[in-house]
Amino acid sequence: STLVELDRLDKVYATGTGDVVALDGITLAIDEGEFVAVVGPSGCGKTTLLKILANIEQHTGGAGILGGKELGGNRSGDVGMVFQKATLLPWLDILANVLLPVTLKRRATRQDTAAALGLLEMVGLSEFARKRPHELSGGMQQRAAICRALVHEPSLLLLDEPFGALDAMTRDQLNVEVNRIWRETHKTAVLITHSIPEAVFLAERVIVMSPRPGRIIADIPIPFGKERT
Ligand code: ADP
Ligand code: ADP
Repeated sequence: STLVELDRLDKVYATGTGDVVALDGITLAIDEGEFVAVVGPSGCGKTTLLKILANIEQHTGGAGILGGKELGGNRSGDVGMVFQKATLLPWLDILANVLLPVTLKRRATRQDTAAALGLLEMVGLSEFARKRPHELSGGMQQRAAICRALVHEPSLLLLDEPFGALDAMTRDQLNVEVNRIWRETHKTAVLITHSIPEAVFLAERVIVMSPRPGRIIADIPIPFGKERT
């Protein structure tokens, strides 16, 4: 079934120097379990699109539905987001960082902790649960950030250039890791990337955007190698 449905969605930022059209009539449907990559030059509205899906920004025109609910309403907890920098809290250990989306709302239960430890195990960080972020490499921190995004079992995983700040080798390793996580969980995911090879490797579908104003100019299926297990 369809998880995300955008219908002629617009986003205009009002700034001191005038309006900036970031998204202009985005119409897009994403099925449950689908992995979609969004590519396009700087300024074409990729991050804005993710922020609207994450309810960090509000759209200014058109309409959108996520999981049966109108975008813009109170939908906190529906999405998990991974940013370019891991943004782990340095004074908390890795386990507490992963549990943060839960503990911001309520006291973590034994099951929450077990779920967080399970995610850390999935990305090979079991031994690092009690370490502080600075004791981990950049790639490991980003793996922990992925666990944090998944801990509240979001319906949608948003990845904004998650490996852009990492070296090529670590980036390749993490791509393999994300591909494995997706094959195991079939979590619906939207990935922003500047790397076409990364998009083609990870996604079943690549959406190409163009700037000024932000529009979708191509929507390309990538069936090769994406057979479901
Ligand atoms: P991308 O992620 O593809 O680089 P963005 O979504 O960041 O694109 O930006 C799309 C357009 O919106 C750009 O012209 C950018 O300058 C503008 N923009 C993004 N965020 C803001 C903001 N908070 N205020 C004003 N303009 C913004
Ligand atoms: P990645 O960050 O993708 O795991 P790295 O090359 O940074 O790749 O690390 C390779 C391996 O070395 C890690 O998987 C981990 O087992 C180990 N490692 C890296 N940094 C540390 C550290 N600070 N403490 C302990 N082990 C580490």
